[in-house]
Amino acid sequence: TETRRPIIAGNWKMNLNHLEAILLVQKLAASLPERTLAEVEVVVLPPFTALRSVQTAIDGDKLQLGYGAQDVSAHASGAYTGEISGGMLAKLGCTYVVIGHSERRQYHNEDDALVNAKIKAAFAAELTPIFCVGEGLEIREAGNQVSHVLAQVDAGLDGLKAEQVKQTVIAYEPVWAIGTGKTATPEDAQEVCGAIRARLTERHGAEVGEAVRIQYGGSVKASNAAAIMAQPDVDGALVGGASLDADEFAGICRFS
Ligand code: PEP
Repeated sequence: TETRRPIIAGNWKMNLNHLEAILLVQKLAASLPERTLAEVEVVVLPPFTALRSVQTAIDGDKLQLGYGAQDVSAHASGAYTGEISGGMLAKLGCTYVVIGHSERRQYHNEDDALVNAKIKAAFAAELTPIFCVGEGLEIREAGNQVSHVLAQVDAGLDGLKAEQVKQTVIAYEPVWAIGTGKTATPEDAQEVCGAIRARLTERHGAEVGEAVRIQYGGSVKASNAAAIMAQPDVDGALVGGASLDADEFAGICRFS
């Protein structure tokens, strides 16, 4: 079915202070035609320190952009110095939060159990997780990408209600394609995204499997977005580097 609304999300990573963030949001909004905003859900994911400013810019000008954070604590509150809770993000008007990004898994040793706990914390705060999965180069070269990613999907979604799985956005991001300029071919993206959907259908039923939006991420640019988005089980993109340039990101959002 083609009823899934495409979702293009820009992961700004550790870039832009709050003033630069306002400028990018305004420039982006000016570059997005009405038609695109009617068809595609566009989301920005600034650093924590820019969320309040991004909220003000979006609400103040009634911009049709969603926003969210790049990480969340697994805990609701308390003695966790340096962490940010889901409740704090929800209070700032965030609707999305990235969980399990490969950079968190790699540099902060986040494992599947922590990712699962963070996804549950997101739902407890009424945030929608953008749940990232993906294989490294060695696993891809050994041809084990599908089994690796499905194990991550199973572990991350463990213990969730069907309604929660249905709402989750899954981002398939092959680690070897992130920030490297090496995009997976549309067929590579479809292979894994199709396998994820089949697994969701098997475990949670066809209604859930058909509803979940699955993004591809890894060196997506305006020039390769259309071919990737044309794949039947790819419903959007999680964009890193190219999301920092308003024209390039708007070009990705106008893929259709
Ligand atoms: C990402 O960080 O989620 C990502 C896909 O990065 P890039 O687009 O820069 O490869």
